[in-house]
Amino acid sequence: MLRVAIVGSGPAGVYAVEALTRRGDATVDVFDRLPSPFGLVRYGVAPDHPKIRSISAALTGVLEHPDVRFLGNVDVGADITLAELRTYYDAILVASGAAVDRRLGVPGEDLPGSFSATDFVAWYNGHPDAPIDAFTVDARSVAVVGMGNVAVDVVRLLAKTADDLRSTDMPDHVLDVLDRSHVTDIHMVGRRGPVQAKFTTRELRELGEIANADVLVDAADLELDPVSEQLLATQPAARRNLEVLRGWAERRPSGRPRRLHLRFWLRPVEVLGNERVTGLRVESTQLDESGNAVGTGAMSTIDAQMVLRSVGYRGLPIPGLPFDERTGTVPNDAGRVLGPGGPEPGLYVAGWIKRGPTGVIGTNKHDARETVASMLEDVPNVPLAPERDPDAVVRFLADRGVVAVDWNGWLAIELAEIELGQQRGSARARIVQREALLRAALAAARSDANA
Ligand SMILES: Cc1cc2nc3c(=O)[nH]c(=O)nc-3n(C[C@H](O)[C@H](O)[C@H](O)COP(=O)(O)OP(=O)(O)OC[C@H]3O[C@@H](n4cnc5c(N)ncnc54)[C@H](O)[C@@H]3O)c2cc1C
Repeated sequence: MLRVAIVGSGPAGVYAVEALTRRGDATVDVFDRLPSPFGLVRYGVAPDHPKIRSISAALTGVLEHPDVRFLGNVDVGADITLAELRTYYDAILVASGAAVDRRLGVPGEDLPGSFSATDFVAWYNGHPDAPIDAFTVDARSVAVVGMGNVAVDVVRLLAKTADDLRSTDMPDHVLDVLDRSHVTDIHMVGRRGPVQAKFTTRELRELGEIANADVLVDAADLELDPVSEQLLATQPAARRNLEVLRGWAERRPSGRPRRLHLRFWLRPVEVLGNERVTGLRVESTQLDESGNAVGTGAMSTIDAQMVLRSVGYRGLPIPGLPFDERTGTVPNDAGRVLGPGGPEPGLYVAGWIKRGPTGVIGTNKHDARETVASMLEDVPNVPLAPERDPDAVVRFLADRGVVAVDWNGWLAIELAEIELGQQRGSARARIVQREALLRAALAAARSDANA
């Protein structure tokens, strides 16, 4: 049997497991730095999108295969190095995602009240690394910079009321903060026009279905220049988006308590404020011939006491793994990690760390299969790992004081979250802090030992 380590149990890691176990000649250990599996399916996808979240049921089926072992709460690079993993595994596939946000690169970006959408998403999803008190929503007006689906998620959740979200598994401390929200106006700001926006029509349409909020679009923003017209001709998705936006531009606001302003052709130049954010200074833009947004020199200020940037993600380097700082990804050829001297034997990548933060969850399936195909092609030439005892790595981690969470531990966390939800009348509620997650997981280990 080939022994494979997968680093990261997000969609890319799990789809790689699926491709590997299908053949029946590999055993796979899946490591995750978190006590829970599924990466952004658990900690990125918005809580009011239960259907997308339910992909985790299919991913569960893959991880419950008898040749697969889950080892959560193990940070590869910190708790065990890649070099140490090589003692136990013939091949290592890293699917560690793109965990950090890109910055705007403008003055004032670090003022209190200016945040990354990544941090906000992590907080409202109860990520164990997100401090419970990371956010208050005292702002009347919020500027969300970015025109992708993550920006749409953030805008939607700020526009909804806590009551709209109470039936989800959103943690109580988040619901409490949203319940006290002062927000009346949310400005979604994009550097380019409606045709260049990255959101999908389904996500966009949802903004118009929020009972509590009017969507406001300036018809002038929807007038198209020749470059956008040309792009529109080849992009049906952009045509659908434009149709939705034109419908909203014709609508009169109906006086709902919150207003979503979709604002195109604006480039942030400074986050304003002394002690905390008081506004976002923006410059109007237009497209040059190659489709890049260039400033026109016309400046204006958006009233905002909170700024959230959602302008892309990048991966984090893992010690011993080649990394391209410019793209925030690992250099690779069809998933084979490329070092200075060419492909690194037995080392692979899949998902966002391989190709950057693009596509939907399903995109990672094809991506992971490509990587596994490369791995299986290389297998005859890969030197076998010296240690073949599957329990040796578990002993190694225990000797180092690392508390690995196995699959039963994760099932115990799930059970504890369902019980917590029942206490407040929802199907499930998130356990947030890492210690509490570990306590729930270890309760399972203790009852296993006593049985
Ligand atoms: C906020 C947000 C919302 C999204 N919503 C949707 C949506 O509604 N629908 C949709 O189709 N797509 C959505 N996506 C995109 C989707 O989540 C991604 O395509 C997908 O999660 C990428 O998969 P991945 O496995 O590469 O990375 P991830 O899902 O990020 O998984 C990476 C995993 O690796 C682990 N890891 C990282 N470093 C280490 C380490 N050193 N050691 C061990 N483990 C490590 C992480 O803990 C994580 O579990 C969303 C993305 C974001 C950011």
